[in-house]
Amino acid sequence: MMATMDIPVTKVQKSRLPEVDFDNLPFGKVFTDHMLEADYENGEWKNVQIKPYGPLTFTPAMAVLHYGQAIFEGIKAYKDAAGNAYIFRPYDNFKRFNVSAQRMQMPEVPEEIFVDGMAKLISLDKDWVPSKEDNALYIRPFMISTDELIGVRPSDKYKFLIILSPSGPYYNAPMRLMVEEKYVRAAEGGAGYAKAAGNYGAAMFPTAQAKMGGYDQVLWTDATEHKYVQECGTMNVFFIIGDTAITPDLSQGTILAGVTRMSVITLLKDMGLKVEERPLGIDEIVAAYKEGQLKEIFGTGTAATISYVQELKYNDIEMKFSTDSWKTAAKVKERLTDIRVARAEDVYNWMYPVK
Ligand SMILES: *Cc1c(COP(=O)(O)O)cnc(C)c1O
Repeated sequence: MMATMDIPVTKVQKSRLPEVDFDNLPFGKVFTDHMLEADYENGEWKNVQIKPYGPLTFTPAMAVLHYGQAIFEGIKAYKDAAGNAYIFRPYDNFKRFNVSAQRMQMPEVPEEIFVDGMAKLISLDKDWVPSKEDNALYIRPFMISTDELIGVRPSDKYKFLIILSPSGPYYNAPMRLMVEEKYVRAAEGGAGYAKAAGNYGAAMFPTAQAKMGGYDQVLWTDATEHKYVQECGTMNVFFIIGDTAITPDLSQGTILAGVTRMSVITLLKDMGLKVEERPLGIDEIVAAYKEGQLKEIFGTGTAATISYVQELKYNDIEMKFSTDSWKTAAKVKERLTDIRVARAEDVYNWMYPVK
């Protein structure tokens, strides 16, 4: 680990905190007083600073606007009943961010900027961390290429930022999913495992098509056969078949390695379930449904935590569920929430305290 860095802070003259209605927080629309900013130039990170949240200036030739070298992360911070703030598993997001950076030919961000800088920023804006149940401080680190140049090549300059958004719950209603058989989110050898901006832009058209048909999201399948399920929206998926939890494995590089996914696997095992990470074919899912063995389907992700799937459509087959009676998804969600707000002991050291 590098020596801690002294990050200069410029504070706002007047906080916007009194204007925020913490009883009715939307998701991702309110931003805190400050942000972290750092520049990469001549092979090193410099100008690391915390300053008032506000607009950036750039020219129309900024590289990211044309060639899309852009990556991001999503992390949450919570408050316990005593008012202490904690970040959930920031080191896992830090590692994943640099995996994305490598795939997009961008420089890695050091821990002292990503993790220590994040903690310092949240410490400054600590009063913005919501304490209401199901609310959290959503943390958005991201990096963009900033060369002023028209030409397809990796940029020499980059900007890394962290912005913070106190947020209410994300998806509440159980989802209706459609198995996607035409469009593809990620293929082997592609960038599906990276949290790279373009992956999300490319998913918008197929998702909009599914919405016109009355669905909330598509369940992506593999690019070759459209037979094996991958994930949906910004969530990994779990299927409870009999007494086994099955989630697609990460070996093809086509699925985002969710931190929530990883946490849920740990908690399901704690709960005594058998967990399998392996290719899961849609035929197996349909067969299990017909035999009455498909008990629950849920998505996992930082934004929504656990989202129930109330309907899964595949061709003419409509698999429907009454999510009210589900035990496993409800229990794993409760366990995760309890750890996050310090109602349960943090046995895995997932919570990073903000001083
Ligand atoms: C962010 C994301 C997830 C969930 O990852 P978490 O670390 O659990 O938030 C899953 N799939 C995709 C495509 C994502 O972008």
